[in-house]
Amino acid sequence: MIPEAEAGARLTIDLAAIAANWRALARRAPGPECGAAVKADAYGLGIAAAVPALRKAGCRTFFVAFPGEGAAVRAAAPDAVVYVLNGLVAGRGEAYAAHDLRPVLGSLEEIAEWSAFQHATGWGGGAALHVDTGMTRLGLRLEEALAHAAALPPFSLVMSHFACADQPAHPLNTRQIAAFRQVRAAFPGTPASLCNSSGLFLPDDLGFDLVRPGIALYGGNPTPGRPNPMAPVVRLEARVIAVRTARAGECVGYGATWTCRAPGRFAIVGVGYADGFLRAGSSADDRDGALARVAGHPCRVAGRISMDLTAIDVGALPEDAVRRGDWVELIGDGLGIDEVGRRAGTIGYEVLTSLGRRYNKRVTGG
Ligand SMILES: *Cc1c(COP(=O)(O)O)cnc(C)c1O
Repeated sequence: MIPEAEAGARLTIDLAAIAANWRALARRAPGPECGAAVKADAYGLGIAAAVPALRKAGCRTFFVAFPGEGAAVRAAAPDAVVYVLNGLVAGRGEAYAAHDLRPVLGSLEEIAEWSAFQHATGWGGGAALHVDTGMTRLGLRLEEALAHAAALPPFSLVMSHFACADQPAHPLNTRQIAAFRQVRAAFPGTPASLCNSSGLFLPDDLGFDLVRPGIALYGGNPTPGRPNPMAPVVRLEARVIAVRTARAGECVGYGATWTCRAPGRFAIVGVGYADGFLRAGSSADDRDGALARVAGHPCRVAGRISMDLTAIDVGALPEDAVRRGDWVELIGDGLGIDEVGRRAGTIGYEVLTSLGRRYNKRVTGG
């Protein structure tokens, strides 16, 4: 762990906010159970810290992408139910049984392999069935699931996944909901799950038996275009390494893409794309990029983001507002992950899962 005194940036993860967000989502769907998607190391924030906080808040069911992630959840929450969304890795049934992980099976071939593994070993752990209701990713096709429903082995969960839940008016939502109701009817008595974070905010009551929010737990807005109902979880602050001036006509950064129109002043901070401060948030004379909050004021990134350094235009602030050694905010209460993502042409999910390993990292509220 890099000591704060030497780190270019410090990253603070608020576990109390993750727990509060889980409770708020659980209240939105008071009938169904509320689980948590913790794939990609809890969206980059760390399974080892996030899972115990969620478990303590009352969460019992977790979703990961790969069995290795499932093993990390098992270590953090010995009594949890853990589903592996990417299914059964061919020939690796043992990796699931070893940590009591439930594969989310998405093809007849996978189902057959899991059944064969169970017969051969006597392992009786659960598995989910994934039915594709319109996103053409994982899962049995709808007609395939309906045709085979009676002949399939029992599942502990039947689920599908929305392609456009963050766009409430998208016509695909209606089609997926109708298809999932057919699926549910074809598997009577099997618990059902459809909603991710944004699905929980669609007008219909779609909680079924279990909901699976991810991004909203970590502070992302499940209702794009409307105020964010979730509490911020992540704060990223960079240290000012130098304050530089430049004359009108001089350029900033690689490629000389940003030109001073007047005499300028810049805070050079010790964070770059190697830390997951996405290079796509670079700015140029004709293009705005990422923002930083310096002494509470929004200031623009000037020029290209380098591997380890970023220049911030602080020319509009009083000269003594920022000094070498000060901290500036790159993600925080006033600068959420969705806004940070938008300014780099991406989404909050990618901002979180790109966060680097070079921070002084502190976890609070546990
Ligand atoms: C990632 C994922 C979720 C959680 O989605 P969010 O949009 O982060 O809430 C739920 N279900 C499946 C199948 C997923 O892949």
